[in-house]
Amino acid sequence: AKAEGRAGWRFFDERMNRDVAALLRLRAGLRRALDRGEFELHYQPQLDLASGRVIGAEALLRWNHPDLGRVTPDRFIPLAEETGQIVPIGAWVLEQACRRAAAWQGEGLDGVGVAVNLSAVQLQRDDFDHTVAAALARSGLAPDRLELELTESVLIKDAEPRLAALSRLKALGVRLAIDDFGTGYSSLSYLKRFAVDRLKIDRSFVADLADAPDDDAIVRAVIQMAHSLGLRAIAEGVETTAVRERLRALGCDEIQGYLLARPLPADAFAAFVRDHHAA
Ligand code: C2E
Ligand code: CA
Ligand code: CA
Ligand code: CA
Repeated sequence: AKAEGRAGWRFFDERMNRDVAALLRLRAGLRRALDRGEFELHYQPQLDLASGRVIGAEALLRWNHPDLGRVTPDRFIPLAEETGQIVPIGAWVLEQACRRAAAWQGEGLDGVGVAVNLSAVQLQRDDFDHTVAAALARSGLAPDRLELELTESVLIKDAEPRLAALSRLKALGVRLAIDDFGTGYSSLSYLKRFAVDRLKIDRSFVADLADAPDDDAIVRAVIQMAHSLGLRAIAEGVETTAVRERLRALGCDEIQGYLLARPLPADAFAAFVRDHHAA
């Protein structure tokens, strides 16, 4: 038993070393990833339930690491936030997403907007509204075709400076969405203070909606609240037709999820929308 125990510890040590080594490799690689063109945006369609049309796309960042292959954002975004690299990476994301969405307007995807995820670290920068304005100006994208997704935590912490930063963004004419709605804070007072356009109902409430009465009650309440406040509600993580139909019955405005499509490379996204609208 004693030998086994030691072997167990050694195994644990090795695994820890491996994890630390992997982290250091990611961290070192991240510094060069932007210059080396290793990032790519994928686009996941957002469907309007009433018209059946694709009205937007969420831009989701992918890192094609030379040795490790595709690294998912959950692994490298926290690192990039910690090192501050999320600032240049996020600026690249905005620039790319705006250019792509501007191109769609002439390619038969007229009216399709783009939603970009923001990290709190980006919003802390005084010049962040300039970054957004520059991306809009260089791409020629109409501001109301760009939506910025923020989580509740961003709006709760240091609300005062945030209020000013978000007012400047709203003044540009862009839209704001609250991401992962319902998972963050019990206080909803920020909804009064910030000019939000859309609530994104978190996947954790949506996934089993068709067979979970609790989730049903929460989703119903969120949709009703959104509508009372004049906001649109979009459900993320829709994987089955049963969930889609339940959302339709509850009056949800829009859906996003694997049922419709996974996040797709830009060309595949454009092809998907054309096919979907032709069908
Ligand atoms: P998120 O903003 O909540 O994005 C939705 C995530 O759910 C995406 O994961 C998407 O691929 C996944 N998803 C979409 N539909 C379904 C579904 O039907 N079922 C399931 N199980 N999952 C679905 P992804 O692409 O791995 O992104 C993870 C997170 O990384 C995002 O969560 C977001 O917080 C962050 N992220 C991604 N791109 C960016 C970016 O450009 N900037 C920043 N700051 N964060 C980003
Ligand atoms: Ca999001
Ligand atoms: Ca989300
Ligand atoms: Ca999330």
